[in-house]
Amino acid sequence: MSRHNEYLKKILGFNLSLMITLTAIVPNSIAIASASALEGTGLSTEYTEPTPEPTITPETTITQVPTITLEPTVTPTPEPSALPAIPTPTPTPELSQIPEATITPSPALTSTPVPTKSPFRSKTLELMSKYDYISKGETGISKKKVPVKTLQKEVKAYGTLYGTGMPYEEYKQAMGQTWVDATEYDKKPVNITVDITKTMNYDNYVSTLKKLSRYEGVYIYKIGKSTEGRDLYAIEIDMASNKDKDVFMLTGQIHAREFAGGTFIVKEFVDLVQKAQTDKKTMELLKSNKFVAIPIINVDGREALITAQNKWSTGGGQLLKAYTNGTDGGRNFPGLQWGQVTYGSSLKRIIEKKPSYANFPGAYAGSNSETKAVMKWMYHYVVVEQATYYLDLHQQGSIIYAGKSWQTKQQEQNSKDLRTNVLSVINKGITSRKYTRVYEGTSYGMQGQGSSLTDYAVTLAIGAKFSPAYGFSAFTDGKKEYMLMQIRDLDKKTIKVRESNKNFAALTLEIGYGEKYLGNSSSTRRLLANEYNYFNFGKLLEALPKMVK
Ligand SMILES: [Zn+2]
Repeated sequence: MSRHNEYLKKILGFNLSLMITLTAIVPNSIAIASASALEGTGLSTEYTEPTPEPTITPETTITQVPTITLEPTVTPTPEPSALPAIPTPTPTPELSQIPEATITPSPALTSTPVPTKSPFRSKTLELMSKYDYISKGETGISKKKVPVKTLQKEVKAYGTLYGTGMPYEEYKQAMGQTWVDATEYDKKPVNITVDITKTMNYDNYVSTLKKLSRYEGVYIYKIGKSTEGRDLYAIEIDMASNKDKDVFMLTGQIHAREFAGGTFIVKEFVDLVQKAQTDKKTMELLKSNKFVAIPIINVDGREALITAQNKWSTGGGQLLKAYTNGTDGGRNFPGLQWGQVTYGSSLKRIIEKKPSYANFPGAYAGSNSETKAVMKWMYHYVVVEQATYYLDLHQQGSIIYAGKSWQTKQQEQNSKDLRTNVLSVINKGITSRKYTRVYEGTSYGMQGQGSSLTDYAVTLAIGAKFSPAYGFSAFTDGKKEYMLMQIRDLDKKTIKVRESNKNFAALTLEIGYGEKYLGNSSSTRRLLANEYNYFNFGKLLEALPKMVK
């Protein structure tokens, strides 16, 4: 049986057993939380899931357990060993129709002497070569791993802890990996069109990024591998200039079924770079600001849903959200909240104990290769380059989260102000179904459901560091380490923690409206194309620099 099938079997096996023993397993599997506390669980404040469309809230999945339609024995699935190219995907009608990003040579550009990018060099790679990510990213207190049981005893007065931390060796591997410059320096720029109504598979995605990297000031890097072995790409628009630039970060599609983020970022970057070729004002903007992104993090999950959506859906119609190994990328970061449940709270009922289509935090913090690649990317821009704003794109429906309830009031306010500005761009001219703000409960992330991308970004910005002893991030005053739940309210903190990026602000932007916006059907792509135009997503990048205080 292929590894691919093994994953499915794991997911399937889990869901079946969960279904059979449903009533018993719910309280029991949520080991640490007390049964009585569970009953008071406020589900309405769930972070990644709230949506105007009740059908996608995962809370429903606990009471109505999804049955995965796929039998472990079914049809041969693509063989992961043949990756990175997806092997023999039976072309669906949609796929055969494609050529996604239509690339046509631009007469204007080809008729002029070829401007090679040779004189241009990646400043990022230069910076990276001089920086010690491993030692600067860790607390430096003790390298000796402390068992979870000991940690649990230590924090008994504050709450409880579940889940295993990231092994120090793997932290070093994550922060020590080298990026590979994949920029096409010496090829002619060509005109690129990204059409949201067409499918963009992995090959289309990579070729679009490569073509875009032919333009001066655009760089692409391979920053790591996916679980199935595909290259993970990051992109930068960093025009040559002497100006001190503000840095804007974007990430998309860490969740498989949330195609909007991935496609929108690619389109935004492509259109902005090409606009700057003929529009002086746009070029000036690019010379004063740096835009960086990982457009698609869950490349395996995206491809799985493009090539075999039915195989990656539950019986209840839920599409894969996690990585194809059943770990939810939005739960896997070794940030400040990893596995922490504060006193008086309970572990969220939606947190899965085993690989599933969503909500399983992983075997341990930072277990997925995608998480490791993003950890270094995130550290580089948030800490080393002091990025200004960060937008993480998801799809739970026309809402925006801003900041974290556990960061300093000032930092949280920065994020809220950014949200106000982003809302005014997106909603401009809109009279119905506007994007709105969402409020998090005060214990957000401290019920086990944190450890997302923005949680990790804020963890870094606030000055927390990786603790080799704990296997996740901690505060330190240089003498001792403190878990988030021991400190909790940073404004009342008794220890001195230096913020590593004082003015940083982060948003989680939830695109679309309900289940019909998820996945990659032709009707979904049409809805997303309308969403992009109707809600001014094409104007977002250019608007960000004007929002800087
Ligand atoms: Zn998401």
